[in-house]
Amino acid sequence: MPPLIFRKGLDLKEAVAGQLAADYHSAIVDRVKAEDFTFRSGRLTIHLAREFGFCYGVDRAVDYAYQARQRFQQRQVFLTGEIIHNPHVNDKLRAAGIRFLSDPGESVDRLGSDDVVILPAFGVSVQDMQRFDAIGCTLVDTTCGSVLNVWKNVRRYAEDGFTSIIHGKVHHEETQATASQTLKYPGGSYLVVLDKAEAAAVCDYIRHGGRREAFLERFGAASSPGFDPDVHLERIGLANQTTMLMSESLEIGEMFRVAMVDRWGEDALADHFRAFDTICSATQERQDAVVAMLKEQCLDLMVVVGGYNSSNTCNLANICAERVPTYHVAEPDCLVSERAIRHRPVTPPGSPRKAVAEITTAGWLPIDGPVTVGLTAGASTPNNIIGEVIERLERMTRK
Ligand code: SF4
Repeated sequence: MPPLIFRKGLDLKEAVAGQLAADYHSAIVDRVKAEDFTFRSGRLTIHLAREFGFCYGVDRAVDYAYQARQRFQQRQVFLTGEIIHNPHVNDKLRAAGIRFLSDPGESVDRLGSDDVVILPAFGVSVQDMQRFDAIGCTLVDTTCGSVLNVWKNVRRYAEDGFTSIIHGKVHHEETQATASQTLKYPGGSYLVVLDKAEAAAVCDYIRHGGRREAFLERFGAASSPGFDPDVHLERIGLANQTTMLMSESLEIGEMFRVAMVDRWGEDALADHFRAFDTICSATQERQDAVVAMLKEQCLDLMVVVGGYNSSNTCNLANICAERVPTYHVAEPDCLVSERAIRHRPVTPPGSPRKAVAEITTAGWLPIDGPVTVGLTAGASTPNNIIGEVIERLERMTRK
């Protein structure tokens, strides 16, 4: 029997609203928003970005997870992995009894048809979906509409014989899921590029060709099985992980367009190149808001709150770090004292193929005189966490 799939919630929105508010609401954040996104107390001024925190996709995914827990109280409920990249939210779900298939000791192989599996906002791969199908478990699909939109585009590329060039992080769940969509069609192919340096190398191959083996050594793990640059770079379509840096994605798109013009000529471009902006509006709004704040306000420093593995949070930190000392913190406890802060060092877009370790920095907060702090948070950071950061900053600057 095909699995039962819930894609539009489980009719328990009102029943879980109180619990969601208790877990994630913040009165102080509401107050700051009402006061023109500004908090003032003694020598401290905080400017909060006008778009920050939970996006529509995350809001919905967390809501559905709570509804699933409520609806299936007698059944085992699993998440495929982190529902979103925020440790606080994931811990809350664990505490509510939702198990994570990515945790040690858990395995898809032990799932049965009575079990319930929640699919995260960034979706799962076609192969994972087939496995759940075969087991016949009940699915609660929270895949964000913006991610589904990317899938639609890459499927169309594959159907029309175009290779999807995906600007994204090859190990990110969303990019893996998106890449897998291209393989639904015979001959479908993809190539993931992380940054402008990788895009430049691919563009160079498009223009001049090169050593196929060297290309595959560099990009083999980031491309579809059997990828042949001499064949699969002839017709390409651009897409991106929804949470990448908008400006970088646009630049990369343009680099590929120009390379294809050089290779095939302007008149033949439509036969060889397609592009579709797949950065989601929530990501773009958060990036635009922080750019606007950096222009409008004179800040001493910036605090960016969100999981260290959250792509959109890292990109917000990148934007800020170009203008002002920036501290990307995972949680309020990272603000250890007025003299020390734990944070993830900001790395240029695309640079970390590997995890970047948290460090502690001393002397991060001016200890005398007025201090103006900019504050924003990634799309997976709930308001209560942002509120606690505001309260900590207030306490640290009180005396
Ligand atoms: S960041 Fe964008 S794509 Fe991802 S869940 Fe939020 S709205 Fe959806």
